[in-house]
Amino acid sequence: MRANLVALTALTALSTACGGAVPAAQEEAAPPAAPSPTKSPTKGALAGKTVVIDPGHNGGNAAHPEEINRQVDIITGRKACNTTGTQTDDGYQEHAFTWDVAGRLKPILQGMGAKVVLTRPNDKGVGPCITERAALGNEARADAVVSIHGDGAAPNGHGFHVIMPGLLPGHNDEVVEPSRRLGLSIRKAYQAGTGLPYSTYIGKDGLQTRTDLGGLNLSKRPVVFVECGNMRNRGDAAKLSDPKFRERIATSLADGIKRFLS
Ligand SMILES: [Zn+2]
Repeated sequence: MRANLVALTALTALSTACGGAVPAAQEEAAPPAAPSPTKSPTKGALAGKTVVIDPGHNGGNAAHPEEINRQVDIITGRKACNTTGTQTDDGYQEHAFTWDVAGRLKPILQGMGAKVVLTRPNDKGVGPCITERAALGNEARADAVVSIHGDGAAPNGHGFHVIMPGLLPGHNDEVVEPSRRLGLSIRKAYQAGTGLPYSTYIGKDGLQTRTDLGGLNLSKRPVVFVECGNMRNRGDAAKLSDPKFRERIATSLADGIKRFLS
């Protein structure tokens, strides 16, 4: 029963789930894994750049509905502070996936000379709210903000897509264009590096523009969400559950970020 409840919660969270944008940062508990720093051609390529990585959701969210369901203002409406995220049929949670990928991506970017800020310090906490996550990227004056997610769509859909901010006049005028360039760069690198196809169920050619996500709406810096695959699809789930594949995801994201910033 509990399992059903959790599954239901995850499903319900779907539509809004991936709206979850961001948290309070810090860098303590090192996420798992540790990719080797990239080689000389890229060394120093990102010197002086700041990248904010937002691992969507958080491990403690499901147990604290009252906190994460608190409504926050995202300009185009009000939305839950944060969500639980989705999971694979085998129970691999989206928050664990995003945390793992962030932990692999961080050292790769640092190896290129970037300053990297994560929006949450571990995978056991609650939140932070999407408003706080966005604020973090703004305060860090991030040159790029990348929010990592796994989607929870119908099982027959698969592939990845990149979500970019839509124009909200007076709020993010200067962010839309560079965010689109960041999105195109990441789309290209992600497709090449992971071999995953563009989403078969949403967006167009692996791209989507939205104005209902707090993490996008509230960002004053170039920002995208990456829905790395559909965790409810058997094929995608098998890949996202594989540490080796997650390493490819991290490498691909790093490549896309580097190309955008170089
Ligand atoms: Zn998500």
